[in-house]
Amino acid sequence: MKLPHLVIYTDRLPVGVAGAANGPLVRIRPAYRHDAGLHAHEYRHVLQWCQASAIAALLLVVIVLACGGLQGTLLALWPRYRQWCEVQAYKEQVRHGLRLDDAARHLMSSRYQLGLQYNDARRLLSA
Ligand SMILES: [Zn+2]
Repeated sequence: MKLPHLVIYTDRLPVGVAGAANGPLVRIRPAYRHDAGLHAHEYRHVLQWCQASAIAALLLVVIVLACGGLQGTLLALWPRYRQWCEVQAYKEQVRHGLRLDDAARHLMSSRYQLGLQYNDARRLLSA
């Protein structure tokens, strides 16, 4: 059984190129429409793309699981998101009685790796 892929016949290919595969899309010059070897060559690239995509998807799942889910992954890999989350959470804590100065100091903690100075932390919490 062949993987689903789309073959189109076109001369919109670089000079000297008879066929090309981009993911599941295969372009072949009309003059090579019946060239079984070229079709097999390009289909091999479709398989390689599919294998690489499966490995990438598996790695992504492993990373997401290792980081404690999607939220954990975003927090770990996207500092701006981590900062936004912590600022919102500390604002909430301030509404419940935490002093703004203390919230700013917590936000500067190295555990968040935000690199914030006191004035920046306080400004973010006050916005
Ligand atoms: Zn090739």
